[in-house]
Amino acid sequence: MFEAAGRSREDVFAQLEAMRRGDADWRGGRVPLYVFSGPPDVREIGQAAFNAFFTENALGAKRAFPSLARMEREVVEMGLDLFHGTPESVGNMTSGGTESILLCVKACRDFSRRQRNDPTHRGNIVIPHTCHPAFDKAALLMDLEIRRIPVRADYRADVPAMAAAIDAHTIMLVGSAPCFPFGVVDPMAELAELALARNIWLHTDACVGGWMLPFVAALGRPVPAFDFALPGVRSLSADLHKFGFCPKPASVVFFRDPVAAGHAVFDLDVWPSGRFVTATFVGTRPGGAVAAAWAVLRYLGREGYTRIAAEVMAMRDAYLEGLSAIPGMTIRGTPELANIAFGRDDIDMAAVAALLAARGWVPGMVREPPSLHLMLSLHHAAAREAYVADVAACVAATLASGGGHTRLEAGYA
Ligand SMILES: *Cc1c(COP(=O)(O)O)cnc(C)c1O
Repeated sequence: MFEAAGRSREDVFAQLEAMRRGDADWRGGRVPLYVFSGPPDVREIGQAAFNAFFTENALGAKRAFPSLARMEREVVEMGLDLFHGTPESVGNMTSGGTESILLCVKACRDFSRRQRNDPTHRGNIVIPHTCHPAFDKAALLMDLEIRRIPVRADYRADVPAMAAAIDAHTIMLVGSAPCFPFGVVDPMAELAELALARNIWLHTDACVGGWMLPFVAALGRPVPAFDFALPGVRSLSADLHKFGFCPKPASVVFFRDPVAAGHAVFDLDVWPSGRFVTATFVGTRPGGAVAAAWAVLRYLGREGYTRIAAEVMAMRDAYLEGLSAIPGMTIRGTPELANIAFGRDDIDMAAVAALLAARGWVPGMVREPPSLHLMLSLHHAAAREAYVADVAACVAATLASGGGHTRLEAGYA
């Protein structure tokens, strides 16, 4: 009911806090995804910068808020420096990975329609099965076909199988750096060769890990090439609000070539209020998210991100070590980053997840193969021993009850 009278600030906030009491305890490390955190000072900087530009609207950056236009330009410049863009490369901030991916698919679709001189061409996109559903969402909106191709035994893209799925109507290939379920980076160099040989647009989905992988590499850990250093990569998405540790909503989409990028832009001049040009799907955009991303990137620099990467990866290693020590437990693949999946094939992992839920954890799950899932950032550090002990106990309980049968389904959103 929309009440006639307003309530006091105290009343409103008391209710907000009361409602929050029903939420899962992410601060205690009991939620395996949705929230990504760096150290407390980084959260504080992001929040303060967000609040400083809380009211400004980035839709008006060109005409009213040159501050925001400059911040966005510098965020994109920092990203292009990190991801080996060429002097021609361009990009813009978006509301998240989904919007970044929608824009790349739109640019690719309209670029290829122009190239083919066929304004209604219905193309297809060939992706590894581990690719994020944002591509299917884009295909649904833009009347394209998605071809999901099974991955190799190590959960990385099977490039020969993807090559075999290409036909005359294939407009885009995609690889993830890394993929959401297993944290492994697809063989982007091989995909880039294939893309160049067949003259097909290659997108690197670095949404989850893009802003962290270069710093993991700087630590001397193995990270395969994934960015514009590979000549076949034409676009790349990287979310600031995941392992970039910036406030939501913030992602960046990058294009190697401004001509192709131009096809992502919406430019209309038909209505009473005049010309309307956006590089995004959304109109109004929070100025706070732009200022916060700029502030966090400037505050941390490459050194700050490298320090956080060292901390996150050391914690991840400790999780992997604890989980691997549980009898029969297998880590799925060799993850490059801190999103990991693990399981035992001889018991029902969904039953294990249900027991974990009963112990107050939001269980992350992968369906194929049945596994538990974690996206680890710094707030998960304190929960490690309790989590590993509870997984071990839930595995033992499932074994004791004959392996388990449950209907708990893997889910993400
Ligand atoms: C999170 C994610 C996306 C989608 O990003 P949103 O910010 O949730 O819209 C796309 N691709 C990958 C690999 C992701 O992890």
